Amino acid sequence: MRLVVVGAAGRMGRMLIKTVAETEGCRLVGAIEREGSHALGQDAGVLAGLSPLGVSVTADPLPVFAKADGVLDFTSPAASVSFAGLAAQARIVHVIGTTGLQDDDFTRLEAAARHARIIQSGNMSMGVNLLAGLVRKVAATLGEDFDIEILEMHHRMKVDAPSGTALLLGEAAAEGRKISLKEHSVRSRDGHTGARNAGDIGFATLRGGSVVGDHSVIFAGTGERLELSHRAEDRSIFARGAVKAALWGFDKKPGLYTMADVLGLND
Ligand code: NAP
Repeated sequence: MRLVVVGAAGRMGRMLIKTVAETEGCRLVGAIEREGSHALGQDAGVLAGLSPLGVSVTADPLPVFAKADGVLDFTSPAASVSFAGLAAQARIVHVIGTTGLQDDDFTRLEAAARHARIIQSGNMSMGVNLLAGLVRKVAATLGEDFDIEILEMHHRMKVDAPSGTALLLGEAAAEGRKISLKEHSVRSRDGHTGARNAGDIGFATLRGGSVVGDHSVIFAGTGERLELSHRAEDRSIFARGAVKAALWGFDKKPGLYTMADVLGLND
């Protein structure tokens, strides 16, 4: 499968280049960064710490998408929405790992997915997607007398909060309880907040150092507490998941899919 990495100079972009180069059946055919980036003109392999791959980083996605089967995109919400339009025009698979997408971004992705195969997930790792399945089950079993709190920690450079993964886990808990996350989530607490409302799903965010991603879902009852946790030690788990998603999407019909579809967790 011929793949393009957008946001090629980013933390995930460089990891994606390496993973594509190492995956049998995949070939890197393009690497995109934005106009003005220091990476333009560099060899993508060298950028990722490998031997040269013969693919230069450019700022013009259209000609590159035209000769590709899929694009791997861990950039920013505005960039991902714009790449979705171009990927739909080129009829290629678009794997989106970007987090911080808002409702109107999803509306635009849904529109693009009428013609394109888009796989979007706030976390592309096998472990977190399995964890989401467990959270859904536990939330459905325990009921409202167990309070649900989601705690996450990421490196100091992360720009959005709560993390896409924390929100994905919150959605899983809300689905298990058959409630809307939007109506029950408490995204921060400060000052005299009053007592906790029954049924709320709380989020707490920590930032610092080089932490790749820690998440815990805490079910706190009276006199006992159940905690389900995942710790990402290496960004390669997300990159491997993204490449797996692209390969899975190759022969699928247009639509907006998630990693749960890729991993067969919705079957
Ligand atoms: P990063 O190091 O800041 O990389 C983002 C890259 O995208 C940067 O090189 C940035 O360039 C580039 N970019 C932004 N807009 C662009 C555009 N219009 N055209 C081309 N390139 C563009 O961030 P990161 O740590 O790799 O994370 C990227 C995203 O992936 C974040 O939303 C993060 O939360 C998410 N993420 C998701 C998962 C998952 O499993 N779903 C895992 C890890 C990270 P500039 O530096 O010039 O802005």
